Amino acid sequence: MPPSPPSPLGPGAPVFAFDIGGTDIKCALVDGDGCLLGVRRVATATSHDASADAVLNQVTQLAADLTHDFPDVTPLAVGLISPGIIDDEMGLVRRAVNLNWTMVPFRRRATELLHMPASFTHDARAAGAAEFALGAARGFTDVVVIVIGTGLSCSLFLGGRPHTAGGLAGELGHSIVDPTGLPCACGSRGCLETVASAGAISRRYASLTGTSPAGARAVIARVEAGDAVALRVWTDALDALALTISQLAAVLAPEAIVIGGGLAQAGPALFDPLRERVNSLLSFHRPPAIVPALLGESAGLLGAALNARSLLKALADD
Ligand SMILES: [Zn+2]
Repeated sequence: MPPSPPSPLGPGAPVFAFDIGGTDIKCALVDGDGCLLGVRRVATATSHDASADAVLNQVTQLAADLTHDFPDVTPLAVGLISPGIIDDEMGLVRRAVNLNWTMVPFRRRATELLHMPASFTHDARAAGAAEFALGAARGFTDVVVIVIGTGLSCSLFLGGRPHTAGGLAGELGHSIVDPTGLPCACGSRGCLETVASAGAISRRYASLTGTSPAGARAVIARVEAGDAVALRVWTDALDALALTISQLAAVLAPEAIVIGGGLAQAGPALFDPLRERVNSLLSFHRPPAIVPALLGESAGLLGAALNARSLLKALADD
């Protein structure tokens, strides 16, 4: 086994962390020092019957594998995260389109299968909480963490606390930027996600050119090479993101907007023109600092681990 990478988690209870995505499942065993041991990624199994049984079986098997590989570490709880409309309080997935789950009492099922306390929340909320506790959003009182990948969503921290509205807040990808725009998987039209998610940038470029780019960053590279279609797709994405951020600035006046997910890896090609556009849209508003997330792809796992540790602390305090 290679040595585990340093983690910002720090000392605490050993826990399992699972980040369940539409494409793959990432997991790790977090030891008492906060190191992520045995980090691995497997393709997500599809539950054809709208239950989460296939994934719950995978989670059980992965937990057994991690326990086998690290017999000296005894996890006391598990932190799980997934996409979808999730009721944190009930531990319930109301609907997760990418996973084909409907009304799954995921937290209870995981608790029963793994025989330990389980925390369960939305993936972007967990990643946002990790950035707020340990990463780029740390130190701010009012801050929005936007994750731009296949989809687009955000976590809100207002007055130093997460604002979730029972799991309904943060659907920034489905705020409408053009009512006559492209149809969205949610049933609406012109959602931010249809022009500004990494997935949408690739898809739009593909549909306009008949060629398949290797992701949104390949489209951005083509902008730099002078491709007019790439420039149009990228300009639309930046304009839509800037519009949405200017509305966040007007409504919530955050001190900072933290941007993570695959698209943030474009670096200055994203952040420089975005800051410029947002500043040009604002007048009296407080201009938010627009900064890249710090925790990268592990933000979800770190958030899941933080939640599992918080759950143990809450159980101990009861
Ligand atoms: Zn939508």
